[in-house]
Amino acid sequence: MTDKPSLPIVENFSRRAAVKGGFATLGAAAFVAAVSPLRQAASDKSAAEFMQQHYTELSPEQKADVIARLEAETKQNYGAEVTIGDDRPIPGTKFVYAINLSVCNGNGNCVEACHKENNHDRSTNQSYIRVLEMPMGTMDMEQGTTTYTGAVPKDGKFYLPVQCQQCDEPPCVDVCPVKATWKEEDGIVVVDYNWCIGCRYCEAACPYHARRFNWKKPEVPAEEVNPDQSYLSNRIRPVGVVEKCTYCLHRTRRGKLPACLEACPTGARVFGNILDKDSNLRWILENKRVYILKEELGTKPAFFYYFD
Ligand code: SF4
Ligand code: SF4
Repeated sequence: MTDKPSLPIVENFSRRAAVKGGFATLGAAAFVAAVSPLRQAASDKSAAEFMQQHYTELSPEQKADVIARLEAETKQNYGAEVTIGDDRPIPGTKFVYAINLSVCNGNGNCVEACHKENNHDRSTNQSYIRVLEMPMGTMDMEQGTTTYTGAVPKDGKFYLPVQCQQCDEPPCVDVCPVKATWKEEDGIVVVDYNWCIGCRYCEAACPYHARRFNWKKPEVPAEEVNPDQSYLSNRIRPVGVVEKCTYCLHRTRRGKLPACLEACPTGARVFGNILDKDSNLRWILENKRVYILKEELGTKPAFFYYFD
């Protein structure tokens, strides 16, 4: 990432703050009148986006309108026909991830799979996953490096994939000044990318470096756009907002596995519903010695590591 943040990010901040403040102090009609010069300056499409409410406050009809607009924008901006779902948590589900570090060999297939599945910017080669090459004898992720090269695995090293830990006490959520990010009933921490003001407080608050900021409009060739998308997940995120791993909720809430797991050639990744007593994941948590990263911070990750 080399581009600097540009002015629209600052404008975006002001605009969102104005929208929220405006509705709090004026009636809706008065507020619309007050911002009419701004609305005139914007296209119809931009005005619709400008006036959009927080995801959790949208009626089903409003959600349908928003999703139709986003699908049309993706067609216009990327030349791709996509379907954006509104995938909600499955009752009785709490998603948890575990990785067998005895098996992970640092090949990075998960990083690449995330990149493609989640429609990340091609020019900056983004992914929600980092694989750290670690010295043996420590679980301190700050001692690892992502810039390793050559054949893997190397003697004296192990490999630690790190992505959003879907913390049960997520500091990223606590610091958001506009409640654009929150934890859902199935444990997944999400972002309303149309409500985020791009202040990056959450990125700074995350001790696992799990959030990414869109410095520029994501570049994805039409033929490479993953068309199976969800509003809170892998739809192409706008410039100037923070994004993060959602455990591929556009897949997992539809009964599929995360893309990173399916791409792993070693079987190191285990994903499931911790409330399912018969799940493989539950067996691992009950029978293996599991680790969590930065336990001392009290973030309570829903992401576990273990060795054979
Ligand atoms: S890992 Fe970071 S981004 Fe994910 S829930 Fe925890 S604090 Fe938030
Ligand atoms: S950057 Fe993070 S903290 Fe700031 S508005 Fe967006 S989600 Fe909230």
